Amino acid sequence: MGYKTTVNDLLETLLDFVYPRNIHCILCGEAIDKTDPYSLCTDCREEVKFITSRFCEKCGKPLESMYLPQKCPDCIQNVHYFTKGFSCVEYDDKIKKLVYDLKYYKKRYLAYHMAEMMTARFVELGWEKPDVIIPIPLHPRKERERGFNQSALIAKYVGKFMDVPVECTIIRRTRETETQNKLNKEERKENLKNAFQMIEKQKVTNKKVLILDDIYTTGSTIDACAKELGKAKPKEINFMTFATGRNL
Ligand SMILES: [Zn+2]
Ligand SMILES: [Zn+2]
Repeated sequence: MGYKTTVNDLLETLLDFVYPRNIHCILCGEAIDKTDPYSLCTDCREEVKFITSRFCEKCGKPLESMYLPQKCPDCIQNVHYFTKGFSCVEYDDKIKKLVYDLKYYKKRYLAYHMAEMMTARFVELGWEKPDVIIPIPLHPRKERERGFNQSALIAKYVGKFMDVPVECTIIRRTRETETQNKLNKEERKENLKNAFQMIEKQKVTNKKVLILDDIYTTGSTIDACAKELGKAKPKEINFMTFATGRNL
């Protein structure tokens, strides 16, 4: 563990200690009751589209009630390298703001509440506890610029809540990929070719791996990561993300 990592860890611990949680709603800023779950006021909690009804059994995207297959069109047509995955909430303007607030406005305390929601959903779904949680890595240069990796921060809390080790050094980002936002699906795939490299194979072999990221869009990032991790023959590679978009 490098000096910088240690300093960052210390800073996070300090922030955990001094940050007063559950005072204001994380979406609208209204004062809330200390007992309101996830630091959301009642109105906002009702507005957030938690994915609790039908969803794709492979990638977790929400499915319309009239759509009959168990998998979304994307998972029917395309091969994915992960076993299965889920997301907590649907990506809309409110959730977009939340994710941006964490990522670009560095409101780190949001990661704690996202992790709470993700852990609660994981338990609700009755998924088997993973052996290891692996957050999607950022390229070191990007992480230096941003100051932290938002997925690693969320993962840290999920790991704490679930009592599962979080490993940030098993896989690394070897190429600085272009921001994916403006790319289509094929371009995203191309953009991510050989973007990840496994470092510590032995920590993955025969293990139940849970990849963690903030958003699932086309799944190309998680797929590229799962493909690389798959080389070490883990028992299974599942994923969880905080938010996902609909694809039908
Ligand atoms: Zn609110
Ligand atoms: Zn799907």
